[in-house]
This record gives sequence, structure tokens and C-alpha cells, in this order.
Amino acid sequence: MGGIMKGIFEKIIDREVHAEIVYEDDRVIAFEDINPVAPKHLLVVPKQRIRSLQEIETEDLPLLGHCLWVLRQLAEQSGVAQEGYRVVNNVGEYGGQTVEHLHFHLIGGRAMTWPPG
Ligand code: 5GP
Repeated sequence: MGGIMKGIFEKIIDREVHAEIVYEDDRVIAFEDINPVAPKHLLVVPKQRIRSLQEIETEDLPLLGHCLWVLRQLAEQSGVAQEGYRVVNNVGEYGGQTVEHLHFHLIGGRAMTWPPG
């Protein structure tokens, strides 16, 4: 996987960069965010490199559904499901996306506010 310009998440997938991995299967990996914004902050990342939600095609829809299923399971496992949590996907500059590899934040363990900053 990859090519010469490997992104940070590809390096985590390939075990070249350490992360606290909490879940992995053939399509998805999940690990703790290095800079958590809440007591629980996980990232769910498709292994296939899709740069953002804006790059998805209809053929990727089963993968996206799988990501949501994994998020739901991890919310349960990490104990935030009952009180509630937030799933975030940042897209592009105005969305605040800093890593160009599709990922979903699972954030919980405290009450969130709305609107977001
Ligand atoms: P974005 O801003 O693109 O929505 O989210 C990228 C997230 O990746 C950020 O929350 C950031 O803290 C996290 N992140 C960036 N580099 C690393 C890393 O090397 N390891 C881990 N575990 N998380 C990272």
C-alpha cells in the first residue's frame, strides 16, 4: 500500500509509526488520537487511502457503512454509548481537516457543545 509519499495514517497502518490501536480488520483501523480533545477520542480510518469524504465514489459506500458500524461498536466498547458521543468528519480547509486520509473522530466522555468552533 502507499507509494513514496506515505501519509501518517498509512505509516500507522503499516506499523512504521506507533499508535494505540484499539481495533483492526481487513478494511479499517482504529486508534487513539495523539491529541485528544475529550476523555475518549478515537480515529476510525479506512485502510484504503481516500483523501476526504469529498473523494468517495458509490463503490466506497459499503466501506463507509462499515466505518459507521465500527464506530458504533467502539462507542459501546469504550463506554461512551450510553451517555452519548460525537462522530466528526472534517473536510478540507474550512472543515479543519489536517490529515488527507479519510477518518472519523469518535469523541466522548464529556458533554459537547453546539455549534462547533
Ligand atoms: P483532522 O484534523 O484531519 O480531522 O484530524 C486529524 C487527527 O489526527 C487530529 O485529531 C490529530 O490529533 C490526529 N493525528 C495527527 N497525527 C497523528 C499521529 O501521528 N498519531 C495519532 N494517533 N493521531 C494523529
